[in-house]
Amino acid sequence: MTDTDNALQQFTFKAETKQLLNILIHSLYKDREVFLRELLSNASDALNRLRFEMVTNQNVLDSTAELSIHIKTDKDTRIITIQDTGIGMNRDEVIENLGTIAQSGARKFLDATKDQKVDLTQVIGQFGVGFYSVFMVAEWVRVTSHSFDPQAEAVSWYATGDDNYQIGKAEMSERGTRVEIKLKEDAAEFAEEYRLKNIIHKHSDYIGFPIYMGDGQETVNKQTSLWRTSRQVVTDEQYKEFYRQTTLDFEDPLSHIHISTDAPVQLYALLYISSKAERGMFSLRKEDGLKLYSRNILIDEYNKDLLPEYLRFVQGVVDSEDLPLNVSRETVQSSGLMPKLKKVLTNQVIRELESLAKNNAEKYQIFWQEFGAYLKQGIASAPMETENINPLLRFKTNQHPEAWSSLDEYISRMQEGQKEIYYIVGEDPRSVLRSPHLDYFHSQGTEVLLLTDPMDSFMLMGLRKFKDLELKNVSQADVDTMQKPKEEAEAVKIPDADFNSLVDLFKQVLGERVTDVRASSRLYQSVARLADADGTVNADLQRVYRYLGKEYEIPKKILELNPAHAVLKNLLKLEAGTELQNIIIEQIYDSALLVEGLHPDPSSMASRVQQIIEAALEKHSG
Ligand code: ADP
Ligand code: MG
Repeated sequence: MTDTDNALQQFTFKAETKQLLNILIHSLYKDREVFLRELLSNASDALNRLRFEMVTNQNVLDSTAELSIHIKTDKDTRIITIQDTGIGMNRDEVIENLGTIAQSGARKFLDATKDQKVDLTQVIGQFGVGFYSVFMVAEWVRVTSHSFDPQAEAVSWYATGDDNYQIGKAEMSERGTRVEIKLKEDAAEFAEEYRLKNIIHKHSDYIGFPIYMGDGQETVNKQTSLWRTSRQVVTDEQYKEFYRQTTLDFEDPLSHIHISTDAPVQLYALLYISSKAERGMFSLRKEDGLKLYSRNILIDEYNKDLLPEYLRFVQGVVDSEDLPLNVSRETVQSSGLMPKLKKVLTNQVIRELESLAKNNAEKYQIFWQEFGAYLKQGIASAPMETENINPLLRFKTNQHPEAWSSLDEYISRMQEGQKEIYYIVGEDPRSVLRSPHLDYFHSQGTEVLLLTDPMDSFMLMGLRKFKDLELKNVSQADVDTMQKPKEEAEAVKIPDADFNSLVDLFKQVLGERVTDVRASSRLYQSVARLADADGTVNADLQRVYRYLGKEYEIPKKILELNPAHAVLKNLLKLEAGTELQNIIIEQIYDSALLVEGLHPDPSSMASRVQQIIEAALEKHSG
């Protein structure tokens, strides 16, 4: 050691860091080579930050030095040296950054190690503890650094991976950071130049600064980012690795979109759609947004202005030459460029989704199940975009309750003379199929969309028409019941006079709870249904109100009866005003509430149902 002993000061790592080091040193990770990627990524960050600093600050040490990284290796001593001309660190920064760093990241990393399935070395950098990965291969590590600030003094940090690290003064006159690694015996392979070159090609080719090796004058890395690389040469594996690195998602993405255009704006982008809407529990991404680069330099980590809100699940990177480099985040927003970028990106994402739907139904189904709610929200909140979004929508229907159908497919299956798209809103796909509102449509073989997702009610606010066909709720549709001249049905109807007295009975028992009781020509299997009185807020909006505020009271409804139903005929046969007649009327009303999903207290029916059972059994056994 070059430091004199009295200048050295000893510090102890925090508990989480100790644990983390312990795991890294003793576990048998097969991908130890990623330590190099982490150190090079730190060097690249430091160079980026220096470049940023130089935009506004003239007073920088070695201001003409090339922004680059040099790697030296010595097979005999097993020492690798990685030196950058980046921003550097002063004494306090070294202690802060390498001693007490990212406690929360360390804790999350430790939690994540409990999950055996994931290869954490792949993503350690995302936890903000990438530097420590060096201890997978190091016997000891010395970091020597000189800040860009000409006034600062050089400093050294030394650790062997046990509980302590040492800080001291150092001899280093040039700007930047030097990391020296004494390799463990079993990591001697990393002292070979060819091995290091391979690792760089594999993981760090895209670092935007030259990396030199040994005395070589040629750069080892390609120096261009993946998103700027031509689609033809990027492999699937590279797309996946980049996805893992940027999103910390261990699963493969559902799809990627690689864009490179010159008009109307110059733009590179590499966007991803995950295979799950929910971010993994280890995800450190707290926000939505795309990484925005200008000429390879990161200017915003979570930019939310590049895509509409309903596409906020899309992740990835956008890079445009047209953005001036020395811009603050505010000027990025106010420059007219953002809306143009947004338009291009939005179109591309929509097109990608359309082609996914066309070419890979299976994947599109996964997409729809995970992200459909976002698109529905888009229809509710961005009516201008509905034309883009509508073709992407998928629905279950009464005719195809297990499959997902598009509106176009629905139209292609429509019956002769059908002029509207029918839908029913309900609580869940199974019970909605039993709704009395569907009686007529089932009998005609008419297809009806089943809208049973809470978001559907919101979507309906913006989805009133598709290709000139109006969407109609079956509970309100004025369907042409003349279409079915069911003479047999006429024949079995309760005569008008009797039916009127039945209506009176219902009105007496239900009183204020319904606005009216009347006959319906649209019921087949069902005894009764609830319908909205004219002039009340439509059923879809009622539902939206209910989702938004619990105290919203559903308006009173009309009870419609099926004049041909045996239950009603038999009900008339009972002696008027008996208790059994009353409770059956009550139960018919409650059942109608229940299938609408409007019953305020279903369990209250239990004792009445029991009374009805008792009556039935009595008659049967009596
Ligand atoms: P992260 O890079 O995610 O912040 P790391 O564990 O890789 O986490 O690095 C911790 C911190 O140490 C960095 O944020 C940076 O401040 C500092 N650091 C590491 N390497 C260098 C370097 N070569 N030059 C300047 N600072 C560095
Ligand atoms: Mg790092």
